[in-house]
Amino acid sequence: MSIAELAPAYIRAISPYQPGKPITQLAREMGIPVDKIVKLASNENPLGMSPRARAATQAAMDGIERYPDQFDLTAALSERFGVGMEQIVLGNGSNDVLDLVARVFLAPGRSSVFSRHAFAVYPLATMSAGGECIVVPAKHYGHDLDAMRSAIRPDTRLIWIANPNNPTGNYLPGAQVKAFLQAVPKDVIVVLDEAYNEYLPPADRVDTLAWVNEFSNLVVTRTFSKIHGLAGLRVGYGVTTAEIADLMHRVRQPFNVNNLALAGAIAALDDHAFIAASFDNNRRGMEQIVAGLKRLGLEHIPSHGNFVTFKAGEAAKVNQALLKQGVIVRPIAGYALPEHLRVTIGLESENARFLEALEKALAG
Ligand SMILES: *Cc1c(COP(=O)(O)O)cnc(C)c1O
Repeated sequence: MSIAELAPAYIRAISPYQPGKPITQLAREMGIPVDKIVKLASNENPLGMSPRARAATQAAMDGIERYPDQFDLTAALSERFGVGMEQIVLGNGSNDVLDLVARVFLAPGRSSVFSRHAFAVYPLATMSAGGECIVVPAKHYGHDLDAMRSAIRPDTRLIWIANPNNPTGNYLPGAQVKAFLQAVPKDVIVVLDEAYNEYLPPADRVDTLAWVNEFSNLVVTRTFSKIHGLAGLRVGYGVTTAEIADLMHRVRQPFNVNNLALAGAIAALDDHAFIAASFDNNRRGMEQIVAGLKRLGLEHIPSHGNFVTFKAGEAAKVNQALLKQGVIVRPIAGYALPEHLRVTIGLESENARFLEALEKALAG
């Protein structure tokens, strides 16, 4: 008997999450100084964190000996979005919230449905809970909602939709998502993962949080990791019905969001100047990178997030050549896109370094 055999087969079948390569790791591997490395691999905010959030987290060091109280952030979100406090579930990153939904609704003998090139956490959360993954072929790299609906089986309890999607950047217009929600059986929970919502131009944004009062089977998740620049603090939230939130609270760790994260998130929520600057940097950087990719003759998938995925042919080789030049992007073979690479929109100078390094990498 091996110790591994003591774990259920569904745990042994999990392939671990592959994060973007940390700057410090590349520095160790290649002997490149940390300050010469550009990391555009994890959709982090190139402007750093909101200055107001920085001040708030520093102030929150006073009182760090106390266990956290989630009241203030929950109240701030409730007020901002016009939903009841009992409809909000905070998480240690929105990843935590996704995991809570899976643990509440999945178990061995149950399944979840998601699109082929969807976020890597969906299979992880599904399998950790013992559920089976139903992977639906993509349409133009994005969600094929009709096919996803047809893929629902009697044992299906969850559907995962990232909108915009990571790593492809596809965006489903609100009307399509709403029609999907109307068509899905009420005994299947739909998770609408909106980690990149704040990068959508206002004209494309839909008040999906209000939909939780219309659909008894909807969970919408958002995060402070992306436009708010707090990826390292780990804080996100889910908005849903009071009934679903109550179930999620039963399985979450009592103190799943730490004091610094709670304080930082409250301040970040109101830092409109930082959010606007991040939005503008992203819009300009997206134009810069897309223009550069076109100049190099590379196809890209039009993106609605803070990243863009492009076809690099022998992507593993191109990636290696980029790493040698101190540029970290994200290989996405694990998302069934072995010929593509995903690059996060950085500062203008970082985008320029990436494009320069990419040109050299392609020249071999
Ligand atoms: C980055 C991302 C998240 C957010 O992860 P956190 O745990 O909140 O840092 C969630 N969903 C998708 C699709 C993402 O790309």
